[in-house]
Amino acid sequence: MSDVATKEAPIESKGGYTTEYDVPMDTTYRCDRCGAQAYFKATHKLHSTPLLFCNHHGNAHRINLELQGFFIEDQSDRLRKNTKPDSSAAA
Ligand SMILES: [Zn+2]
Repeated sequence: MSDVATKEAPIESKGGYTTEYDVPMDTTYRCDRCGAQAYFKATHKLHSTPLLFCNHHGNAHRINLELQGFFIEDQSDRLRKNTKPDSSAAA
């Protein structure tokens, strides 16, 4: 009887919302503040729509968001892998 329930249980262990870390945010994910490509996704168990932030705004807001109970998915390491360190996106 409980076979079906156990398959869906892991989501609850994350606090009731899914994390999609295995799904890379591509160029269609844009920062809610400035429209740049997003590398941070802030999810909250009370909000169905995640907030998206670029590397700059993600770093700027992550502390406040975490204090508000958001889970911050940081994919900014992809920024360092995909771009040359000497590009104009530095800092
Ligand atoms: Zn931004």
